[in-house]
Amino acid sequence: MPESAIFKARRIANSDNDGWLNDHAVVVDTGGRVEAVIPSSTLGDTSGKKTYDLGDVFLLPGLVEAHSHVHVSPDLDGFANITTETDDRMVMRAVGAVRKALLSGVTTMRDIGSRNEVIFPVRDAIESGVIPGPRLQLAGTPITTTAGHCWMFGTEANTLEDVVRVVRQQVKLGANVIKIMASGGNFTPTSNPRMTQYPAETLRAAVVEAERLGIYVVAHSHATDGIRNCIDAGIHQIIHCRWLSSDPTVAMDYDPEGAVQLADNGTWVDPTIGLSVLGAEARAAGAPQRQLHWGVSAARPSPEQTIEVLKDMRDKGVRYTTGLDMGMAYADYDKSAYNAISFVELLGYTPWEAIAASTSVTAEALRVNDTVGSLRSGMIADMMSVAGDPSEDIRALAISTDVVKGGVPVKLEGRALV
Ligand SMILES: [Zn+2]
Repeated sequence: MPESAIFKARRIANSDNDGWLNDHAVVVDTGGRVEAVIPSSTLGDTSGKKTYDLGDVFLLPGLVEAHSHVHVSPDLDGFANITTETDDRMVMRAVGAVRKALLSGVTTMRDIGSRNEVIFPVRDAIESGVIPGPRLQLAGTPITTTAGHCWMFGTEANTLEDVVRVVRQQVKLGANVIKIMASGGNFTPTSNPRMTQYPAETLRAAVVEAERLGIYVVAHSHATDGIRNCIDAGIHQIIHCRWLSSDPTVAMDYDPEGAVQLADNGTWVDPTIGLSVLGAEARAAGAPQRQLHWGVSAARPSPEQTIEVLKDMRDKGVRYTTGLDMGMAYADYDKSAYNAISFVELLGYTPWEAIAASTSVTAEALRVNDTVGSLRSGMIADMMSVAGDPSEDIRALAISTDVVKGGVPVKLEGRALV
């Protein structure tokens, strides 16, 4: 249970996540909420409140990670991992994954595709205090076609009626977001990343049903035709958004008008490019290049081409969320900072823009920005600190010093308490 507490730090991110407050303190109430963020010199009588002087650190809101798959490990071949392990083994793996994420500074995490039997009990265990982990927003199994992307752990649904039935089923199990595969994906040999999996009317039916039940829909699409279907269907968020041409001899088929429509519709995009930085670093350290999917091996977009398109989409007003794709190769659960690192190093964000993307902006996309993502009165006291100044060098975000969830420290001075 949280107790009244005070967290003093040399620098604390302001409530807009665009500058530092020097020598301030976060005062936390017994409900684990921020009572006030005030200069330490004005604290007055602090008796009755436990005081933590975090010292010469940079204190930020806890990171918001929008894309994990906690039933799999980045250290294993994902396909083999999913097709051979038991649910029990995956639950044990997931317990380790959520703890690792929390201790790295992730206090809110959205899992958009894990086995129902694994992920819902894990969230229940976190909420009951049985295991440590971030606040979880969950899709459970993704919705896909027979043999479609992630069929190994997805729920297969082919017709419009079937998709609507599965949306309802996931909500019944506890989903607060729906994940649907609008195109094939690299992970699944029996799918085709260049081609759509559902017509727009079927995606639209999922959107209508999710909205009726008070939640939203996140769609995976590498394919340009899949992105177009998502636009027509009013899908709320798109993952990857790579504009792959349906012609296997042509790498990309970017549609700038489509990007304008995404911006006008307020469709969020998770460009999953933290993974690109991590993959490049892993290969530079000697890791082998992953085998390419047969659907893209003939004409693969170059990294430069991909970045150029993502920059153009941003220039047109498309808003990006974090989303590392945790659990996939190279994307370990303590690497959420690589979202912000890639935004600065590849997309030209300022460090503060990238910090906001990893906190308040993605909290807005997850519809939880009224409770997490910034440090101000009334918000849940979820915080993380780092030793270096991430507004100078964004890579400082990668090593957390302290982590606080709901006013309770789970890591102090680099030492895990859970
Ligand atoms: Zn994913």
